[in-house]
Amino acid sequence: MSVNNEYRNFPMVPRVVFGKGSFNQLSLILDLKRETQAPFIFLVDDAFEKESSLVKRIELKFNDKILFISAEEEPKTSQVDAIVKDILEVYDKLPSGIIGIGGGSVMDLAKAVSLMLTNKGSAADYQGWDLIKTKSIYHVGIPTISGTGAEVSRTCVLSGPIRKLGINSDYTTFDQVVLDPLLLDGVPKNQWFYTGMDCFIHCVESLEGTFLNDFSQSYGEKAYDLCLEVFLEDNDLTEEEKRGKLMMASWHGGMSIAYSQVGVAHAMSYGLGFVLGTKHGIGNCIVFNYLEDYYPEGVAIFKKMVEKHQVDIPIGICSDLTEEKMETMINVALSLEPLWENALGKDWKSIMTRAKLRSMYIKM
Ligand code: NAD
Ligand code: ZN
Repeated sequence: MSVNNEYRNFPMVPRVVFGKGSFNQLSLILDLKRETQAPFIFLVDDAFEKESSLVKRIELKFNDKILFISAEEEPKTSQVDAIVKDILEVYDKLPSGIIGIGGGSVMDLAKAVSLMLTNKGSAADYQGWDLIKTKSIYHVGIPTISGTGAEVSRTCVLSGPIRKLGINSDYTTFDQVVLDPLLLDGVPKNQWFYTGMDCFIHCVESLEGTFLNDFSQSYGEKAYDLCLEVFLEDNDLTEEEKRGKLMMASWHGGMSIAYSQVGVAHAMSYGLGFVLGTKHGIGNCIVFNYLEDYYPEGVAIFKKMVEKHQVDIPIGICSDLTEEKMETMINVALSLEPLWENALGKDWKSIMTRAKLRSMYIKM
């Protein structure tokens, strides 16, 4: 199967529990999946390391273990390899499962670790499409910040020695997801906005793209409307109600791009991420701010949302890049061919020339 197959036969998350307090059900869910003597390994965002009630609510049994993970930088193939090596050294059996509790960074790391426990070599060998041959071990995703759609997608994005690219495979998708809006409590405001805008931008790029179809449109429109309710409209929703809606927006946005594709903002943001280490959510915002020519309505609404929430979107980050870095950034962005084709059509190469892309980056 390749990424450009006209009809994709992609996996969905087979089990999901939703609702305030649903996190309390985790222990019961895991008990049913526990293999004798084999631990569950919990990868938990280190935002929860200190005095967090969430960690106290994780019921450790037998030789289960919690590993705190920093999401300061996005996950790397070397980080996956190191965690896998440690697990294989410490335990004489494969774990019963890997549980990722955090944002896109920690959930992607959990997906990758579960895959690499059953596939030989380095995670870097599997960056690409359908290179994984052996089923992963059981893995569970529990988002604590919403927007990326990593909880539903069949990829886990990793920075490797040569590229930043996901391990896209049928085995990447979580076996179980727990959606508890209460876990979003405590997300810093700017980060809430950047990650939430990742979802909004998924919707715009999917709905405005040439790959759009009824499947993607139905999920994309729902997620788009939910984003407007959460980020733009003046309504009577409580913060708690908005968290539930944002969680569902993220889910639907992820489903929408599963059967279509993202576009210009994501392609350019990957370039920023690779060269400058700019994180996904904020990188998308930095780029999207300048994409009126491609997504006029979406960008106008985005600017209203920025204004409403008084969020800082950095500017001028590419103004004094070296020539070499600019070239790399352009190479990385242009290598994401399906994204450009979705955004601009089959003739995208004649529209998005290197010179054009450079002139856009320089403004950012
Ligand atoms: P993140 O996981 O990088 O976390 C952002 C920040 O929020 C971190 O500092 C983290 O500690 C903090 N945080 C998370 N939950 C918190 C909480 N409840 N309280 C306080 N702080 C909290 O953010 P993200 O935007 O969700 O994920 C970005 C990553 O997702 C990138 O690595 C990107 O490549 C990846 N991504 C993956 C997919 C996919 O389909 N797999 C899609 C889009 C993006
Ligand atoms: Zn995204």
